[in-house]
Amino acid sequence: MLSKSYAVNGKGHLTIGGVDTVELAENYGTPLYVFDENDIRNSCREFKAAFDKYYGGNARVYYASKAFSCKEMYRLTDSEGLCADVVSGGELYTALSAGFPSENIGFHGNNKTPDELAYALDSRVGRIVVDNIYELHTLDALAEEKGVCQKILLRIKPGIDCHTHDYIKTGQIDSKFGFALENGEALEAAKLATAMENVELVGIHCHIGSQIFETQPFVDAADIMVSLAKTIEKNCGKTLTEINFGGGYGIKYLESDSPVPKGDSIRLLCEAVKEASEKYGFPLPTLAIEPGRSIVGDATLTLYKIGVVKTIKDVRTYVSVDGGMSDNPRYALYGAEYEAIVANKADKPRDFTATIAGKCCESGDLIQEHTKIQTPEVGDTLAVLSTGAYNYSMASNYNRIPRPAAVMVKDGSSRLIIERETYEDLIRKDI
Ligand SMILES: *Cc1c(COP(=O)(O)O)cnc(C)c1O
Repeated sequence: MLSKSYAVNGKGHLTIGGVDTVELAENYGTPLYVFDENDIRNSCREFKAAFDKYYGGNARVYYASKAFSCKEMYRLTDSEGLCADVVSGGELYTALSAGFPSENIGFHGNNKTPDELAYALDSRVGRIVVDNIYELHTLDALAEEKGVCQKILLRIKPGIDCHTHDYIKTGQIDSKFGFALENGEALEAAKLATAMENVELVGIHCHIGSQIFETQPFVDAADIMVSLAKTIEKNCGKTLTEINFGGGYGIKYLESDSPVPKGDSIRLLCEAVKEASEKYGFPLPTLAIEPGRSIVGDATLTLYKIGVVKTIKDVRTYVSVDGGMSDNPRYALYGAEYEAIVANKADKPRDFTATIAGKCCESGDLIQEHTKIQTPEVGDTLAVLSTGAYNYSMASNYNRIPRPAAVMVKDGSSRLIIERETYEDLIRKDI
């Protein structure tokens, strides 16, 4: 099994967090997102414990809430002592509505609107990660108007290439995010920022990509970022106190995936930062990371009802489910890989090759192609695993399909955290 959270019970049904998934599907309907609370909490604790152990706790773990944003996730991560990274006014609003402390919020984005910046300032968010010169000027002017001084970090493109999908790679020079290092943009931005009166440059930030299984890119980033902090100190007379290394820690989507354990990733990062600090003669900064997928991606699943099973002789079998790209667009977007299990036959062998299709009017509406599942029949419950990150948050109402509900399971019981949309919800804004 992909996660300790999954098991098979005496009825041959797949369970998550001790709860029978077939019963979940019956009780809450399908499609249904299911999250295991203990696993999410454990992920938060693993990151924090590693920083305590390897860096004396001088670190902040921001949950990258774009992975899965809803009020319960902000409450849960806050209760674990995490900070939150938001990338839009909407995420900020959701976090604040859940009572998330604004001083623990970092605001990101490559094109924050002036309205969003004003909202962030009014909300007194702890940090704004500035992406570009236009934003820097806009923010300084807005902060002056409001009579506040905003703590900021600069988003840096460290020029690191990592082996992940092109669409989820962000650290190289040809990226829409941040200031490039090699052409001097980053230093120019630091000079400008340190001369401004209504922003305080406290640190630098980088995020090199997502679903990364290597450790070397993070180690390289440590050297590059500490070196840049030293350069900024020399050229701007300002000693930065924070370096944020973003997210990107890979998780297990397939049995064959072997992600680096969280503790090991953090140990290597801390060691690399300490080494670089010594090498460049720079005081140890407060570290920050922004894991999203690795907090909420594991130990989750989506439950569907299987409908039409269409075998095209000598070609393939389409197994259609009652959701699709409307609740999980990741295969359609970038060929994301998933394992699937027929939840009510979880004790049977997965010896049937299926293409799992959604119900949207789009040939590309597939969840997975040529994947092994148990022999499917109409009415079976299908579980697609590790769907906690970037599924609900990327869901749409394409074909006017209502967004699914989400439940949290914990120690054998379940509770609703997001209600299923109704047809009435679909027309709420129609005039
Ligand atoms: C997407 C993103 C993250 C989270 O990435 P994961 O791969 O989900 O850990 C963190 N920081 C920034 C700036 C991001 O864009």
